[in-house]
Amino acid sequence: MTIGIVGLPNVGKSTMFNALTKNQVLAANYPFATIEPNVGVVPLPDERLTRLSEIFSSERILNATVDFVDIAGIVRGASEGEGLGNQFLANIREADAICQVIRGFVDDDVVHVDGKISPADDIDTINTELILADLQTLEKARPRIEKEVKGKRAPAEQLTAIDAATEILEGGRTLYQAMQADKFDVSALRELQLMTVKPFLYVFNVDDEVLADEDKKNEMRALVAPVEAIFLDAKFESELAELDEEEAREMLESTGQEESGLDQLARVGFDTLGLQTYLTAGPKESRAWTIPKGATAPRRPESSIPTSRRASSRPKSYRSTISTRTVRWLLRSPPARSGWKARTTSWSTATSWSSGLTS
Ligand code: GDP
Repeated sequence: MTIGIVGLPNVGKSTMFNALTKNQVLAANYPFATIEPNVGVVPLPDERLTRLSEIFSSERILNATVDFVDIAGIVRGASEGEGLGNQFLANIREADAICQVIRGFVDDDVVHVDGKISPADDIDTINTELILADLQTLEKARPRIEKEVKGKRAPAEQLTAIDAATEILEGGRTLYQAMQADKFDVSALRELQLMTVKPFLYVFNVDDEVLADEDKKNEMRALVAPVEAIFLDAKFESELAELDEEEAREMLESTGQEESGLDQLARVGFDTLGLQTYLTAGPKESRAWTIPKGATAPRRPESSIPTSRRASSRPKSYRSTISTRTVRWLLRSPPARSGWKARTTSWSTATSWSSGLTS
């Protein structure tokens, strides 16, 4: 599953995407991830894996991953084919979620396409293009579906859903906003591949002062609520991604940040895609596996697994499912773990361990 990065020109998309690709996982460790030039496959941070790898003396750690796709720039009029309009819309259709980068930094040397820095207007411009594209799709589909409903080849709810969606979009809201705020049900519209039903996340590319200014951040949060906003300084993240782990931690600490913006982005992105992990550990590797939220292990999101690999991408021989309590104990009391460890072999632990467990 992928997250498409969109945003107006000169907001820092490429800078952020470059930082993501510098930060990306080694292809050799992830044989079933296709790493293409416009895709950044980044690790989902998980301290529990580090602890598990210490406990089991694992040879390697395999984090879950989040795929970000760099989507060519959007400009006003994209829905009518302006700029790279059509290509842009086709790329968005393929993404499972949309990450909009919004410019919050001020720099007179970097022009803003609209001549002023206004996060609210930027969000509006992108939303408007996606809304217009969806309205076109609905308008095109309506006569066909009306015929099908008359001929009893489609359920009447489909037509009702088209009209309700049209009304929401004409009111200037995305369908995702309506899903979030009013539990608008889009199930009858699935075949139309609408763009504004996709989950959104927002990255505000800001400078130091804004990062430290909760009031300013709250103003920006209010623009996208209830969707979570991420604040980062793309230039800084790009520099951070070039350092080794130790140096990066020092640099982060010096700025008073606990987590890098890219780590936050990976976490929120993973959550937005509706995914969770479960963990396995042994001497060979400590690993986070991706499953849809609410699913039991081991089930990966089918759409992201090439058919030929579906069976083989599961852990082959894990022996027992251990309880959350045992995992907690293992993590809390490393000295007591050796006896337990001796009774387990290679794929020794598997637990459906949702993100709720953090300590
Ligand atoms: P894109 O068109 O959205 O891909 O934007 P780019 O990533 O190419 O950035 C446009 C310009 O803004 C470049 O000159 C970047 O160096 C600069 N830039 C990007 N992020 C920041 C930032 O956080 N602060 C400042 N001051 N400049 C930035």
